[in-house]
Amino acid sequence: MMRYASAVVFSFDNSYARLPDRFYARTSPTAVRKPWLLALNEPLAALLGLDATELRSDAGVAVLAGNAIAEGSDPIALAYAGHQFGGFVGQLGDGRAVLLGEVVGKDGKRRDIQLKGSGPTPFSRCGDGRAALGPVLREYIVSEAMFALGIPTTRALAAVATGEPVLRESPLPGAVITRVAASHMRVGTFEYFAAREDVDALTMLTEHALERHFPEGLAAPNRALALLDHVVGAHASLVAKWLGVGFVHGVMNTDNTSISGETLDYGPCAFLDEYDPRKKFSSIDTAGRYAFMNQPGMAKWNLARLAEALLPLISKEEEEAARLATDHLNAFDGRFEMAFGDMMRKKLGIVTEAPGDLDLATDLLRRMASSQVDFTIFFRALSNGAQQANAAERGGVSSLFEDPGAFHEWAERWRARLAEEGSSPEARAEAMRAVNPAFIPRNHRIEQAIAAAIEQSDLEPFHTLAHVLARPFDDQPEASHLADPPAPNERVTRTFCGT
Ligand code: AMP
Ligand code: MG
Repeated sequence: MMRYASAVVFSFDNSYARLPDRFYARTSPTAVRKPWLLALNEPLAALLGLDATELRSDAGVAVLAGNAIAEGSDPIALAYAGHQFGGFVGQLGDGRAVLLGEVVGKDGKRRDIQLKGSGPTPFSRCGDGRAALGPVLREYIVSEAMFALGIPTTRALAAVATGEPVLRESPLPGAVITRVAASHMRVGTFEYFAAREDVDALTMLTEHALERHFPEGLAAPNRALALLDHVVGAHASLVAKWLGVGFVHGVMNTDNTSISGETLDYGPCAFLDEYDPRKKFSSIDTAGRYAFMNQPGMAKWNLARLAEALLPLISKEEEEAARLATDHLNAFDGRFEMAFGDMMRKKLGIVTEAPGDLDLATDLLRRMASSQVDFTIFFRALSNGAQQANAAERGGVSSLFEDPGAFHEWAERWRARLAEEGSSPEARAEAMRAVNPAFIPRNHRIEQAIAAAIEQSDLEPFHTLAHVLARPFDDQPEASHLADPPAPNERVTRTFCGT
């Protein structure tokens, strides 16, 4: 029997649980043997109006482990479907996650509070409902790093060790992460009801999604189109931001494509070291479907599945519905290109807009790819170099290229373009440093932090990494080793799903 932890106050208001029963399954987390708090995100707790001291207490940790239910919680596992690597699976759902409830934060925003790895649910199929410590620490580090990088993302409130092994290829220590999200509605949630031809549910889901993420859309003459339009824009912007920091999501299935426009599900994700547009890391993505530069195309593909699911709401006339949906979907290309152009201009220190900008950016990326230049190091060095117009400093950046001449040729064009701008070199360098991070969650550093936690029960590397990544745009000389690319023997070439 689940205990209520009355000592911990969450002001839950559970709007999703008020939707009809077929949207979810009522369920409870399964208690674990020996819960132990690994990490608590105090700034996020404060934003959510939660008391960090309460959360750190035994009663608080019991809630974060799923051993107790806080007052006002109405735990549910959400139903959804999804296209996984192109194939439709009609029944997925939260197989190892439980939505505890929703909280309206100090900023007035409503957020889901979810436990992931909290035991089996009616949607677990053959899974154990659990998560291993490694993937939990990875999601904690990367999602919080993404937040600090200014990229829409779910967040991590806490990580708790369970004191129980999870059986994968070998036994691994288990953990539960508390994930915080604007919502957990996915493209796959819409597909779930579309596959069942449940137009009433689609209508309610559309209204719920608009209320939570785009309330202006409730007044639109065509709510489904308004929602589609909004989600298309959110993902065009999101994927451009991913490309700006070298992020490879790795498993962009429609069940991992949020309606809110947040990055969702940190499984086999990774960051580029050297720039390679075809780079993929995930061991199961054999064809490179979700490779770095395929991400915009795959985002659009996922949005096409949303558009299809919404067709019956868009218009009763099939042809009319298809025409409207296609128009809104195809707007993705222009919206992405605009977002990508804005992002690259910022990375290059360009404030005004000129017709050749996109070409300048893609020319650079081509040269970086053929010279295998480290993506993060290059843009940070370019930012610092933007301050000095002299050749010596340019030499510093050019030495990152196998063929320095390839950089010099491009840099001539770049300097000529900057000469058209009004801003001072100092202001430009400052602005560039505010968008070109010194620190990203390097794959090898994540692996090292996880290995230390698992093999030596040493959480110090994890906490250090999380601490440094909270200020990715600040030079932190004492942590410069965390900015370095991997040595040849440290390179991470493959990543694995969190299951
Ligand atoms: P993911 O690849 O993490 O996006 O998960 C895809 C689907 O598999 C979702 O429905 C998950 O809930 C489910 N799933 C993943 N891991 C487990 C697990 N250990 N136990 C039960 N369900 C799982
Ligand atoms: Mg998922």
